Amino acid sequence: DRIKHIRNFCIVAHIDHGKSTLADRLIEKTNLLSQREMEKQVLDSMDLEKERGITIKLTPVRLIYNSKNGEEYELNLIDTPGHVDFTYEVSRSIAACEGALLVVDATQGIEAQTLANVYLALEHDLDIIPIINKIDLPSADPDFVKKEIEDIIGIPADDALLISAKMGIGIEEVLEAIVERIAPPSGDENLPLKALIFDSYYDNYKGAISFVRVVDGNCRQGDRIKMMSSGKEFEVTEVGKFIPNLIPVKELKAGDVGYIAASIKNVKDTRVGDTITSAENPAETPLPGYKKVTPMVFCGIYPADGQDYENLRDALEKLQLNDASLVFEPDTSAALGFGFRCGFLGLLHMEIVQERLEREYNLDLVTTAPGVIYKVYKTNGEVLELNNPSNLPELTEIDHVEEPIVSASIMTPTEYVGTIMELSQDRRGVFLGMEYIEQTRVLMRYDIPLNEIIYDFFDALKSRTKGYASFDYELKGYKESNLVKLDILINGEKVDALSMIVHKDKVNERARKMTERLKDSIPRHLFEIPVQAAIGSKIIARETVKALRKNVLAKCYGGDITRKKKLLEKQKEGKKRMRQIGKVEIPQEAFMSILKLD
Ligand code: GDP
Ligand code: MG
Repeated sequence: DRIKHIRNFCIVAHIDHGKSTLADRLIEKTNLLSQREMEKQVLDSMDLEKERGITIKLTPVRLIYNSKNGEEYELNLIDTPGHVDFTYEVSRSIAACEGALLVVDATQGIEAQTLANVYLALEHDLDIIPIINKIDLPSADPDFVKKEIEDIIGIPADDALLISAKMGIGIEEVLEAIVERIAPPSGDENLPLKALIFDSYYDNYKGAISFVRVVDGNCRQGDRIKMMSSGKEFEVTEVGKFIPNLIPVKELKAGDVGYIAASIKNVKDTRVGDTITSAENPAETPLPGYKKVTPMVFCGIYPADGQDYENLRDALEKLQLNDASLVFEPDTSAALGFGFRCGFLGLLHMEIVQERLEREYNLDLVTTAPGVIYKVYKTNGEVLELNNPSNLPELTEIDHVEEPIVSASIMTPTEYVGTIMELSQDRRGVFLGMEYIEQTRVLMRYDIPLNEIIYDFFDALKSRTKGYASFDYELKGYKESNLVKLDILINGEKVDALSMIVHKDKVNERARKMTERLKDSIPRHLFEIPVQAAIGSKIIARETVKALRKNVLAKCYGGDITRKKKLLEKQKEGKKRMRQIGKVEIPQEAFMSILKLD
């Protein structure tokens, strides 16, 4: 009855509702770490996660809990990210669990991401424990949130736990509820091994390590294992658990959450969603896998210094080991040289990868504006899946173009309905309907082209609703659309890295704003620089960067030696962050400035 004493659970919540804080309290309460080791948000181990206060990678952890019933339990907690870009990570952790703690902020109530995640948990038949957090705040309204949970999600909330993760109130009750209300795993350790890979990561010494939920059978050092998708076999060098670092144990058995290392050289051999079985005594059928992730947002990433190309490739390969949702392929740009076209789950994911590349791998990067995948139907019957605007065929070869559409749900207090309608309309959204969730809050549904939300929709929504609206989306399909390619010419030269695909109705405005932005970000040179926007050969907007006046130069070359030195140094600094396009030097920010057009 070992397995009766295991509970595998995750925490699902909207961002900022207190998952990570609750996880900290659970770890503290079970004395996993000494007070000294206990730093804030233990599970958010990446620097970036700590800085931004969000969870990016899920991190499993094993806790030992002595229940009031006198028995000892092994609790495996998998913290999950709450941001819309990372729903994929959430679905992975859900499949490894029997239960979920549903954390809702007592002052905010249910938000769009709460819904998205809880539906995932319901789909997987998890036992759900509703938890109302932040009851220490004066504006907390637990009864109201209980009613919301019943009305909106449709699960009973009478026995919802009222806690304050921050103050450590109600944590014991959470642990008891995990033991009492979440079912133990139901596997059989006598059957052939079946372990679901829910994450993997690369360790320089141990090779690719699979994070697994063992469903049936057992696994120990020396066993020969087989990956069911590829048939590849390996010998297990170590199995262990997350305490919270990776600590070796003698064996993993049905019901356990742990890791398996097998000197696997390539992380591609530990594909997330794959089933590991025994090579000698293989299972007949694999576990249900995961939906393949599809990157939705693409951009070009180039080294600021061409010499760094190989380093960038290396860094991308390393990052990919830990982040299977990142994809990239070599790309070249006339303006930026050799680089990569990279695909991401969303904008936040993109920003995070860029930041990690710059910080962890010390690279200076130039990134191009993000875009989506278009389907280009050519007159000769071919269909192109285009993720790079500069590869768009000649207009005469194109029959029509389709763009990806997402179904978006936006939850908002009623007073912002008008604002959101305006914003969504401005982003070519098609209004589908609106339901009252309660008297003062509604759920609005829209179809919106992905292209319109990847820039700054989320920011715009937050700022226009003072942070009260929440937003979730999923890919719905493709739709024909009147799209054109907007090119940018600087000093008469087309800069391919600045080309973008835009809806016809918005192209004039976009062209005007882009040329204005670029004019402001390009420093003056000795000559006048025209900045133009064009569709094909037709110029639709123009700005000019005026030439430097002679007397300004004269000053620079005047007497004072130290001043001149300083100026030269400053120029050198600046140089690193510039790209030479023809005779013109363009600062890196220019390539990103087109992102923020509002
Ligand atoms: P996550 O995004 O769901 O992981 O949320 P965090 O655990 O990072 O918490 C978000 C913010 O809410 C942090 O500033 C926490 O300190 C705060 N917070 C979490 N739980 C409580 C609580 O019980 N009471 C109060 N007042 N603040 C809390
Ligand atoms: Mg968190």
